[in-house]
Amino acid sequence: MYRLIDTHAHLEEIENLEQAINQARQARVSAIIAVGSDYESNQKVLKLAEEYQGYVYPALGLHPWNLAKSDLERDLAFIEAHLAQAVGIGEVGLDYDKRVRARADKEQQVTTFRELLKLARSYDKPVLIHSRYAWRDALVLVEQAQVNKAVFHWYTGTSSVLRDIVASGYYISATPAVEYHQEHRRAVREVALERLLLETDSPVVYRRGTQLEYQSRPADVLRTLKGVAALRGTDEAEIAEVTTSNAIRLFGLAEQQDLDQRSG
Ligand SMILES: [Zn+2]
Repeated sequence: MYRLIDTHAHLEEIENLEQAINQARQARVSAIIAVGSDYESNQKVLKLAEEYQGYVYPALGLHPWNLAKSDLERDLAFIEAHLAQAVGIGEVGLDYDKRVRARADKEQQVTTFRELLKLARSYDKPVLIHSRYAWRDALVLVEQAQVNKAVFHWYTGTSSVLRDIVASGYYISATPAVEYHQEHRRAVREVALERLLLETDSPVVYRRGTQLEYQSRPADVLRTLKGVAALRGTDEAEIAEVTTSNAIRLFGLAEQQDLDQRSG
């Protein structure tokens, strides 16, 4: 029986989380990476990781959508101070959508992302990257910072940037949008399975504006799995096995689980 890992969820935004976690366990989800987006949510994901120890693993971040209200010095200091408890840095990155740039321009986004990448490099943590309309710039900054481990989450960028992501040894992750989103489907079809992770980005609403609209939860990583398997024409079991080992290796979850067992 295979197991799954939801490598990107905003757990602190999910209503009735206890129920969502139980559903995830039933859907064979064996771990969840809870990403933080700002100062408050970073505190919340650390708490959730304590509450669901050995199941929820925190990543600490500063989302480009939240830069306008960020106290950068305070937020970076908090992330650095708690990084030992985290399995990664995220959600961080760049977003060149014009509504986002109206709140935090490119320069502010790039400066902040560089600081976060420096932390990732110094502490050797994987980075979970949001890169909407900024795929090439995000990759260039990650490479310049000499970061070893990175995931371009919900990747919808060009094939040429994707080739360079893979050539640099980085990953992309698939969401339930793999069922219908054209650019995302192309990327998930083209990427080497060894460079792919599964996620939900829950509680994101998928198929918005259609009769099939639904609000996602970590259990929906099963939809991601089925979508990827159908698209690539590969067995679900094989996709699950490879992507789960990718996640365990990238985030060091095997060592984490050993530590949890020893301390528990
Ligand atoms: Zn996200």
